[in-house]
Amino acid sequence: MSSVIAIQPQAAGCGQAPVLRERGQREVFCGLTGIVWLHRKIQDAFFLVVGSRTCAHLIQSAAGVMIFAEPRFATAIIDERDLAGLADAQDELDRVVTRLLERRGDIRTLFLVGSCPSEVIKLDLSRAAQRLSQRFAPQVRVLNYSGSGIETTFTQGEDACLASLVPGLPTLPETAPASLVVVGALADVVEDQFMRLFAQIGIAHVAFLPARRSDAMPAVGPNTRYLLAQPFLADTARALESRGAQRIAAPFPLGVEGTTRWLEAAAAAFGIDASVVAQATASARARAQAALARQREALAGKSIFFFPDSQLELPLARFLSRELGMRLTEVGTPYLHREHMAEELALLPSEARLSEGQHVEKQLDRCRAARPDIVVCGLGLANPLEAEGLTTKWAIELVFTPIHGYEQAPDLAELFARPLRRRELLAA
Ligand code: SF4
Repeated sequence: MSSVIAIQPQAAGCGQAPVLRERGQREVFCGLTGIVWLHRKIQDAFFLVVGSRTCAHLIQSAAGVMIFAEPRFATAIIDERDLAGLADAQDELDRVVTRLLERRGDIRTLFLVGSCPSEVIKLDLSRAAQRLSQRFAPQVRVLNYSGSGIETTFTQGEDACLASLVPGLPTLPETAPASLVVVGALADVVEDQFMRLFAQIGIAHVAFLPARRSDAMPAVGPNTRYLLAQPFLADTARALESRGAQRIAAPFPLGVEGTTRWLEAAAAAFGIDASVVAQATASARARAQAALARQREALAGKSIFFFPDSQLELPLARFLSRELGMRLTEVGTPYLHREHMAEELALLPSEARLSEGQHVEKQLDRCRAARPDIVVCGLGLANPLEAEGLTTKWAIELVFTPIHGYEQAPDLAELFARPLRRRELLAA
């Protein structure tokens, strides 16, 4: 049973609406993609993908070439000898890790990241992580998680990574005051803004998972209240609850409304009145609302179709429809976690068609029939749809860009307004 601190029920929206369930061919990136933003966030971590040359190419091209620092990720290539069982892959892995850690004294957490090839040959990375952790403790902790693309979507890489951190988090003593943990990788600038807002609201003990450094990861226990900043963290949530932490139910902090309700839910869990939140956030809200009013002129009445990709689709759809007046044709999501999404579902307009999972051909047919003004989809679908005259937005860009909180709300709206403007200019 999960532990949840409930906030007040919302007016009925899409909460009970039927959801179209799709199973078929999918067009998504795998969980390795998460390394692109996680390696920037946890500054003394290293991500060692145990995979093939394909995995190495994916990571390298998604992350670009890092010229400003020693890289914090690499791929240990499983070659033909490993696949044929001619070499002991565990011994090889020990050699690679030892060489890496001898050369890089700055690494404090090493993630062994599984891939499709490592899963196919059933390479036991949890055994490797335990063995290597014992050898390199206390200097380095070695953890493992899977980034494989088998039955996953790209944001699940972050979920698996954060879930792997939870068992090793320090224990919050039972006598310690209640603390808040914000869960989900946020850009440092966004984290700093939220930290200031929580301080103004009067929540004193706030930490973020993941922290920027391995020795600053939050302590957890029954006095921990946690607030999800990202909607794709089901495994991490389960792991935190198994340590006694309680989830604060809230919509996600996208847009002015989402951010305000998210902060209000946190405040309520700490016995702080919504009026305090209103006061603390007044100027940030006013600035964001003024900027959004300008974006609304460009976006109101425009229709949007979401292919299932990032798992951010529901909160984005709620923001775009309620704050910018966009029309939702279809909102697809790879997985619908009804519990974590309850507050979002309640806020979505009831006419929005929801779909879960993917059958790409059927969805393409529905998208073509709807002829939306803009389509949010993966990279693989964007080019063909653009060639058919549709305007697209890459879902992955929404995960790479800081979009949470008040200051970022206009930037988030701009991500949708820009491609529409470009299309209009081209048509002129
Ligand atoms: S993990 Fe699987 S899906 Fe991802 S790049 Fe490697 S082989 Fe491809």
